[in-house]
Amino acid sequence: MNVAENFRAVLAGIEDARQNRTVAPDEKIILLVVTKNHGVESIREAVDAGATDIGENRVQEAAEKFPALERNVTRHLIGHLQTNKVKPAVKLFDVIQSLDSVHLATAIDKAAASLNKIQDVLIQVNAAREPQKSGVLLEDFNALINFVDAAKNLRLRGLMMIAPNFPDVEQCRPLFRQMRTLFDELKPARTCFDLLSMGMSNDYKIAVAEGANVVRVGTAILGSRNQV
Ligand SMILES: *Cc1c(COP(=O)(O)O)cnc(C)c1O
Repeated sequence: MNVAENFRAVLAGIEDARQNRTVAPDEKIILLVVTKNHGVESIREAVDAGATDIGENRVQEAAEKFPALERNVTRHLIGHLQTNKVKPAVKLFDVIQSLDSVHLATAIDKAAASLNKIQDVLIQVNAAREPQKSGVLLEDFNALINFVDAAKNLRLRGLMMIAPNFPDVEQCRPLFRQMRTLFDELKPARTCFDLLSMGMSNDYKIAVAEGANVVRVGTAILGSRNQV
């Protein structure tokens, strides 16, 4: 498993997919390396290969790994966040991508205020309406974004979506497109609203073609996940 080689291959894949883009063809696209269930050594390899952004799913795992990671890198929380883990999450992460309820937004805002921090967040949308999956449903979206816009210690940076595991990956395309449309509607009224996080190892090319500007790639760069 050559992490640097894999990282470069995914970067090349992103540039290929950019050729099929209709929206914002020259936009900066961030390759976020998903490091969950990989040790600190693998994270260092990815960062040394050029990764600027990493993603973790669990607060506890990040708390164990981040102190040993002396590299300068932007840290994203991409997994579901429970309210009892909010304070350590605000301490550990530059961006919380999994904000999906007013209840959670209230807790993050409060924790950020107590730590004198403005916390960058993305709203996670359950665009496919999958039961049991995280993410706000579109009918609840307006109430949530209004809350986040007004919250003093939250800065809304954009949107996040996890596509379902469709039998045919092409089925993701309309969902990615729908998210980009929503993103472009919301962007003009906001100052720092710049991140649309969607696409993983199996579908990142389709996501990029449809307007993702953050792709979250784990397996294609670091290989299959160990249990740590
Ligand atoms: C694990 C995970 C990824 C990465 O998935 P791969 O298929 O390994 O690329 C991306 N996003 C989220 C939210 C994840 O939990």
